[in-house]
Amino acid sequence: MTRIAFIGLGNMGGPMAANLVSSGMQVTVFDLVQENVNALVDEGAKAAESAVSAVKDADVIVSMLPAAAHVKSLYLGENGILQAAREDALFIDSSTIDADSARAVGQAVEQTGRLFVDAPVSGGVAGAKAGTLTFIMGGKVDAVAKATPVLQCMGKNLFHAGDTGAGQVAKICNNMLLAVLMSGTSEALQLAIDNGLDPKVMSDIMLQSSGCNWTLQKYNPCPGVMEDVPSSKDYTGGFMVKLMNKDLNLAMTAAANSQSATPMASAAQGLYKLHQRNGNGDKDFSSIFTLFDNK
Ligand code: NAD
Repeated sequence: MTRIAFIGLGNMGGPMAANLVSSGMQVTVFDLVQENVNALVDEGAKAAESAVSAVKDADVIVSMLPAAAHVKSLYLGENGILQAAREDALFIDSSTIDADSARAVGQAVEQTGRLFVDAPVSGGVAGAKAGTLTFIMGGKVDAVAKATPVLQCMGKNLFHAGDTGAGQVAKICNNMLLAVLMSGTSEALQLAIDNGLDPKVMSDIMLQSSGCNWTLQKYNPCPGVMEDVPSSKDYTGGFMVKLMNKDLNLAMTAAANSQSATPMASAAQGLYKLHQRNGNGDKDFSSIFTLFDNK
C-alpha cells in the first residue's frame, strides 16, 4: 500500500487528501489548523504532530499550501521536510507558486537524489471533492511517471507541461484568464440585471451562446443562479480573493519578465486589488460580482 504524507488541508487539500484515503492509500496528514487535521482523521487518515513526522515513512509527499513562502519554508526552512523524508521519496507540490520558487525547491530536492514534481491544479473545490481536478505537471519524466498513479486518485486530466516549473507557468496563464473571465461574466450579468433581465435566464442564454465559459458552466458568480457554488453560500468555501490576487501578481511578474502584453489581466488585477482593499480578501473570488452590483 502506498504511504502518502499530505501537508496542507485547506479548501483544496482537505478533499484531495480524502480522495487519497478513499482510493486505498495509507495517508498521514498535517496542517497548522487542528480542526482541518481532525476532519481528515474522521475520513480515515492518520494525524501527525508535525510536517517532519508526517513525511518520515512516506513514499510520496504531497503539499497544498497557500503561497511560495509557505512551500519554501516547509521544504527548505529550519525543520524542513526535505532531509526528514526517505531517500527514495517523491515530492509533489500542488500549491500555485511562481515558477522560480518551484525550480529552486525542485533543484534542492533533486540534489539530495529524490524526485520532485510541481503539479498545480485547476477545477476548484468542487473538482477537488469530486476527484476530477486537472493536474499540470512540471518535472523529469521519471518523477512524472511516479506521480501519475497518485494524482489519478485526485484528478481526471493530467498534463506534463515540461521540465520543473513548467506546471506553474501553465497554471498562472490559466488563472490569469480565469480572473478575466470571472470579471467579464460578472459585468455582463450585472448589465443584464440592470436592464430588467433575470440573471438565471441570461446565464442560460450565454451558456448556449458565444459568451459561454467555465465560470457560467461551473461557478456562476450571481447568488441564486446555481446551487452549491460559493455565490449561493455567501461567497464562502472556494478560492479566496487574496489567492487570486497572489496568482495575478505571479502572472503580471511573469509578463513583465517576458515583456508580454496583458492589458485584459491588468484590468482584472485592478478590480481584484480594489475588491480585496474593500475587505473581501477571504471571500471566494466569484464575489467580484458584488463590485458591479450597486444595490
Ligand atoms: P487554504 O488557505 O484554504 O488552505 C491552505 C492550508 O495550508 C490551510 O489549511 C493552512 O492552515 C495550511 N498551511 C499553511 N502553512 C502550513 C504549514 N507550514 N504546514 C502545514 N499546513 C500549512 O488554500 P486553498 O484554497 O486550499 O489553496 C491551496 C493552494 O491551491 C493555493 O496555492 C491556491 O492558489 C491553490 N488553488 C486553490 C484553488 C481553490 O479553488 N481554492 C484552486 C486551484 C488552486
